[in-house]
Amino acid sequence: MSEAVHEVPAAWAKRAYIDDAKYQAMYQRSIDDPNGFWAEHGQRIHWMTPFTKVKNTDYNGDVSIKWFEDGVTNVAYNCIDRHLKNRADQVAIIWEGDDPSESKKITYQELHDEVCRMANILRLRNVEKGDRVTIYMPMIPEAAYAMLACARIGAIHSVVFGGFSPDSLAQRITDCESKCIITADEGLRGGRKVPLKANVDAAIAKSGGVDHVIVVRRTGGAVEMDPVRDVWYHEAADVVTAECPCAEMNAEDPLFILYTSGSTGKPKGVLHTTGGYLVFASMTHQYVFDYHDGDIYWCTADVGWVTGHSYILYGPLANGATTLMFEGVPNYPTNSRFWEVIDKHKVNTFYTAPTAIRALMQAGDEPVKKTSRASLRLLGSVGEPINPEAWEWYYRVVGDNRCPIVDTWWQTETGGILITPLPGATKLKPGSATRPFFGVKPQIVDAEGKPLEGAVSGNLCITDSWPGQMRSVYGDHQRFIETYFKTYPGKYFTGDGCRRDEDGYYWITGRVDDVINVSGHRMGTAEVESSLVLHEKVSEAAVVGYPHDIKGQGIYAYVTLMNGVEPSEELRKELVAHVRKDIGPIAAPDKIQFSPGLPKTRSGKIMRRILRKIAEDDFGNLGDTSTLADPAVVDDLVNNRQNKK
Ligand code: ATP
Ligand code: MG
Repeated sequence: MSEAVHEVPAAWAKRAYIDDAKYQAMYQRSIDDPNGFWAEHGQRIHWMTPFTKVKNTDYNGDVSIKWFEDGVTNVAYNCIDRHLKNRADQVAIIWEGDDPSESKKITYQELHDEVCRMANILRLRNVEKGDRVTIYMPMIPEAAYAMLACARIGAIHSVVFGGFSPDSLAQRITDCESKCIITADEGLRGGRKVPLKANVDAAIAKSGGVDHVIVVRRTGGAVEMDPVRDVWYHEAADVVTAECPCAEMNAEDPLFILYTSGSTGKPKGVLHTTGGYLVFASMTHQYVFDYHDGDIYWCTADVGWVTGHSYILYGPLANGATTLMFEGVPNYPTNSRFWEVIDKHKVNTFYTAPTAIRALMQAGDEPVKKTSRASLRLLGSVGEPINPEAWEWYYRVVGDNRCPIVDTWWQTETGGILITPLPGATKLKPGSATRPFFGVKPQIVDAEGKPLEGAVSGNLCITDSWPGQMRSVYGDHQRFIETYFKTYPGKYFTGDGCRRDEDGYYWITGRVDDVINVSGHRMGTAEVESSLVLHEKVSEAAVVGYPHDIKGQGIYAYVTLMNGVEPSEELRKELVAHVRKDIGPIAAPDKIQFSPGLPKTRSGKIMRRILRKIAEDDFGNLGDTSTLADPAVVDDLVNNRQNKK
C-alpha cells in the first residue's frame, strides 16, 4: 500500500494560521483544559447574552450534552447581520447553475434581504420558534435563504435531499411532524428535470399534516397548486418587507434535524443545536481550509447532506466567506465541468467526495488537463475513505502537485470535521485522515472496549465531547443512547473501523461491520478496495465478506472496470494476483464479480450491506433500500449472481 509522505509546502507553512508547533500546543491545551480552550474560541461568534458556562457533558446514563448552555445567540445573525458593517457589498454566495451559461452573485446585503423576506413569509404562515420546516430544494440560492430564514426565526429545518423519492420524503415529514414545506417547481441536474413539487404533493398525500407549501419557481414547468395550501414564493415575497428581527436562541435550542444517509440502515434524525454547532462549524472551516478573507471557496456537496450544512453554508458564512453553490453534476455538459467552474470563478479551495474523484479519474486526465486550475490552492475530500490511488490522481492531475489535500473524516452526527490534516501543519499520507482536530480525543478499542495503545487497528471511539456533537435523535433519545453510547459505555462509538500508525496518524478502514475476518486476520474492506483500484483497468471496487467453510470469511469483490475494458477470466486472475502481490495472499479475493454499477446512496456512498446480502445469496432480505440512488443496479447484481450459479 502507498506510504508516500507529502511534506507541508513552504508557502503553506508561511501563509497558514496553524503550523505544526502551533497545532501541537493548541491541541494539547484543548485536551488539558477544554473549558478554558472553548471559552476562548466560543468568542468567535456573537452572543446576545454571553455564556458563563462552557462544557457540561455526560456520556453515561441518560447522556446529556450541553455547551455554552446559558448563552443566547442567533445563527442567521452570525452568518449575515454581523458582517453587514464591513461586508455588505462583498459576495456571500456565488451560484453556478446546471447550465454553464447561468450564474449569479449574491452579496451579504442581498442575502440579508432575501433571508428576511423568506423569514417573513414563514412568520405569516404561523411558523414559530421550535416548529419544524422541511426543505426539499434543488441547489439554488433559495435553499440557503430557506435554511437561514428558519434559523432567523428559530424554526428547526429538516433538509431532505432533492433526489429522494416521495416515500422517503413522506417518512421524513412524518418523523419530525413538519407543517410547512419549502420546495421548487422542478429541479435541474445534468440537464434533466426533477419533479420536486409533484413529489411533495405525492408525499403529503401519504403523510398528511402539512398546512403550507412554499414553491420557488425554478424551471417554470407546469405544477399543480392547491389554492389554500400552496403559495408561489415570488408572489409571497412581494408582500413582505426585507426586515425581520433575529429570534433570541439559547445555545442549546435546536437548529436543525438531518437524516443520515442510510448506508447502514434506517436513517436517523440527527439533532443539532445552535451555539456549539456554529462555533465548531466556523472554527473547523477556518482552520481546516485555512480560510482567509478574499478566498473563493467551493464545496460540491448538496445542502441535503451535513457537508452542505456545515461547509457550504454555516461554517463559511459565519466566517464572512465567499462560498460557491453548484446546482449541477460533475459530468455535465462534459467531464471538465468542475475544472471549468474553478477557472470561471477563480476558486482557491475545492472540497469534494471520493466518489466524484473516482468517477472523473475514470474519464482520464485530458478533461482536467485542458483547464488551467491556476487559482487552486487547496483540495479536500470527504464522505468515504479515499483510496491512495485516487488521492494521488487528485493531487497530481487536479492539483498539479502543488495543492495539499485535506482528507476530512467526520459524520452527520459530529456536526463538523473531527480528524483531518491542517494544510500548514500536517505532512500528508495518501489515504490517511491524519490527526485529530482541536478538542477531539479519538481512541481505538478492541471488541471488548479495551483501549489499545500505539500502532493498532480496532474500533474508533471518541472519549469526550466537542461542541459540534449531535445532542439527540429527534424524538427518540433512547435510540441516541443505544446507537452511540451502549456498545462501549462512557464513549461515543463512531461505528467506523480505524488503524493508527507509528506516527499517530489515523486511517479509517470502513464501517466496523465491514471489517472482515479471514482465517483469523482482521482487515478493513477499504484496504482491499484500494489495492484493486490501484490496478489500471479497475475504476471502482467494493469488497465484502461472505461465509467461507475454511477461512471463516472469504473475500468477495465487486469490480467496476474502466471505460472500454471487457471483463474476462484472465483479468479476474490478474486482479487476484495483483492484490496478492500488493497486500499479501491473505487479502486475495476469493470471488470477483464484474459489475458495471454499484449500489450507492444518493450521497454517493457504496451500500455494502446490500452487497453483503447478495454475496451471501440472501436476496430476499436486502433491507431498507429507500435511500439508494438507482435501485436497478441491485436487480442487475442479483441477476448476474444468479446466472453464475
Ligand atoms: P448511516 O449512518 O445512516 O449509515 P452514513 O454513515 O453514510 O449513513 P454520514 O454521516 O453521511 O452517513 O457519513 C459518515 C460516515 O462516512 C463515517 O462514519 C465514515 O464511515 C464515512 N466517512 C466520512 N468521511 C470520511 C473520510 N474522510 N474517510 C473515511 N471515511 C469517511
Ligand atoms: Mg453513519
